[in-house]
Amino acid sequence: MSRSRLRLLLMSTPVGPLGSGLGGGVELRLLNLSQELRRRGHGVTVVAPAGSVLADVPVVGIPGQPQPTAHTRDRSDPMVLPPNSVLGNMWDYGRQHQGQFDLIVNFAYDWLPFYLTSFFKTPVAHFVTMGSLSDALDDAVQQVADRFPGRLGASTRAQVETFGCGDAFTLLSSAINLDRYQFCPTPGEALAWSGRISPEKGLEDALAAAEIAQVPLKILGKLEDEAYWQHLCQRFPQAEASYLGFLSTHDLQTVLGQCRALVMTHRWVEAFGNVAIEALACRVPVITYDRGGPAEIVQPGSTGWLVPPDDVAALAAAIQRIDDLDRSACRRQAEAEYSLPALGDRFEAWFNRILHRS
Ligand code: UDP
Repeated sequence: MSRSRLRLLLMSTPVGPLGSGLGGGVELRLLNLSQELRRRGHGVTVVAPAGSVLADVPVVGIPGQPQPTAHTRDRSDPMVLPPNSVLGNMWDYGRQHQGQFDLIVNFAYDWLPFYLTSFFKTPVAHFVTMGSLSDALDDAVQQVADRFPGRLGASTRAQVETFGCGDAFTLLSSAINLDRYQFCPTPGEALAWSGRISPEKGLEDALAAAEIAQVPLKILGKLEDEAYWQHLCQRFPQAEASYLGFLSTHDLQTVLGQCRALVMTHRWVEAFGNVAIEALACRVPVITYDRGGPAEIVQPGSTGWLVPPDDVAALAAAIQRIDDLDRSACRRQAEAEYSLPALGDRFEAWFNRILHRS
């Protein structure tokens, strides 16, 4: 395919600065995508809340108050914008500078950018980062689907099926820089659990399953909900579990690589689950619920086990069968499906289709 150099404006999540961990998988996704697109010669500008850090990728930092996260609100809640909203300020930057770009790509899971699509002269594409959580946002997504065909992107089939217009999305999956994830030939006995510590991630099920299976659990990730964490500490006082904090990718992969498996226990329809492919890249199999994105990643019996959602006993039983899995198949799958060049190809093709239509 012949390639033209695109000038791309990537609009980050407004829930917190990049590097804080509050943005979850969006942070690593923006980093990987930006680096891959720049490697291909595209011009990439990232706009994000002030204080953001994105390795060697330049970021335009915008001041203002963060948005509340969609997963901490009820489906029928009206949309909110705090005074001096960073989301509003970011999109004002986009409005003022749009003439310098061929395409604007929104990564905010929020109503405003969808609503603003028709007010921009430069085409706006939307990469949707979670499943359906809000009636008002669903409505705004549907309007983009109707008025701007081709502009919606997302990670997995399970994710887009939570919206009323699944066929309107381009599926783009996810990817990581595989060179940053190493193999540890001598993993220990512990299991890993990795992610934001927040109720929709269901850490209690991993603690319970590890207790039944009598294996230690290493917990890695952003402590997003302190009250929830305190509740877990009281509920599992005897758990052989250690919380290691929110780790850099380098330290994360070192700890992950030393574990026998990653356990993912999400209660919601996880849009993708970047931690799953990070584990696979370290040759660590994934034991998870047959729900959402992780169920589209794991190859049962080879790179992990899928068990019925919310079934802790089944999780514990699957933990006993880790040795039936194939650690080298995990890395092979990561290389075949989740490399940065594969991600770059998918996004470039999506961008070119949008620009061709516009
Ligand atoms: N993560 C991290 N340090 C940690 C644990 C997790 O940087 O100690 C990152 C991980 O690399 C992944 C993100 O947190 O990119 C979690 O993303 P995921 O897609 O699994 O879930 P989300 O938070 O987007 O729902």
